[in-house]
Amino acid sequence: MFNERIDVDRMQRRIAELGAIGETEDGGVTCLAYSERENEAFAYLLEEIPDSYDVEIDRMGNVFATPDRSAESSLYMGSHLDTVRNGGRYDGRLGVVTALEAMQAVDELDESPAIPPTLSIFRAEETARFNVGLIGSRGALGLLEETQLEAADKDGVSLREAMDTLGFRPPEIGTPTIDTDRIAGFVELHIEQGPVLEAAEIPVGIVTEIRGILRDRVTVRGLPNHSGATPMEKRRDAVAGAAQMIDAVERIGTEASREGDLVATVGYMDVPDASANKVSGEVTFPIDIRSVDMAYQTAVDERIRKRIESIAEERDLTVEIEVMERIHPVSLDEHMIEQLAAAAEKTETPYQRMASGGGHDAMDFIEIGKPAGMVFTACDRGLSHNPNEHVEPEAMKAGTKTLAQNLLEYRPK
Ligand SMILES: [Zn+2]
Repeated sequence: MFNERIDVDRMQRRIAELGAIGETEDGGVTCLAYSERENEAFAYLLEEIPDSYDVEIDRMGNVFATPDRSAESSLYMGSHLDTVRNGGRYDGRLGVVTALEAMQAVDELDESPAIPPTLSIFRAEETARFNVGLIGSRGALGLLEETQLEAADKDGVSLREAMDTLGFRPPEIGTPTIDTDRIAGFVELHIEQGPVLEAAEIPVGIVTEIRGILRDRVTVRGLPNHSGATPMEKRRDAVAGAAQMIDAVERIGTEASREGDLVATVGYMDVPDASANKVSGEVTFPIDIRSVDMAYQTAVDERIRKRIESIAEERDLTVEIEVMERIHPVSLDEHMIEQLAAAAEKTETPYQRMASGGGHDAMDFIEIGKPAGMVFTACDRGLSHNPNEHVEPEAMKAGTKTLAQNLLEYRPK
């Protein structure tokens, strides 16, 4: 039924046109949270939404578009448009483009779904700019916190200021921007961001759980001094100390990954007064630890902290470790998982159940008690947050068929 109706060329055109906004030299995309570029991407997508749909833009700039505003409850479907620096064309965008395509394919049928859809396009999902993520969906659902609004980018611009510049306002803390009673469920399609589906030659994954995130910020302080005049034994070098600490994060993370589900990463290090002719006095770096098992994650974080503190002591440095963000691991809704699996079967789409390594907007719906599910599509070499991110048209189509069939037949429990 959906084989002829789903227009892969139209999806590829939309992905390409979105990708042209903020295109980088090596073919990637930079479209950061609450930037002018993100605004352009939203403006582009608004033009693609059929005129017959009712469009609501909330105070944070999230977009909700539905063919039936009068319906008491609606199946929300979508993802985000922002990217990391020099990211790919599919992360987030594919979830928006496939949701719109599934809605348009269902519009063409004689029968209509019992629960009409709402295309949901969220702002600021990536942590690349403000070091906090899921901002648009958290705001929409009443989960945004004061501290998140004060998070600043590397130029010192806070999230609140960046929103204000574009004419958006955060909601009152604890208050959603949309009528959450209307949400019958949420489905998000996303690229896998890993190599599992491709290796298994299966186009679609149905996600069962999402790894939680524990993110620390480490500040290492030593004594800034002249690189030529300070003898080696007299140094309190924050860069050398941080390098040893980062090495420890990788070693402990690797060991822990053999005993349980866990990955640990230091994505960057920041040396505020960096200079080639200086022993540096201060370094900050984040630690990002992910696992489906929160107790295990906390235990490994403890192990890492102890090691960092002992390195600091050996080197006569001071160290401060603060928790920046803690996002619990999430089990997706069982009933939604079953309905998505049934939709995949009915459309003869090969699929497998799997866990997600990345955090996604869908987690926020679970947090407020709404049934949420996720569909993954295989991606080329598992690459993501990378200019070479790519999804084959067959996988795109398989995922969209599953979304469309689920939309047609979804019934809340
Ligand atoms: Zn994403």
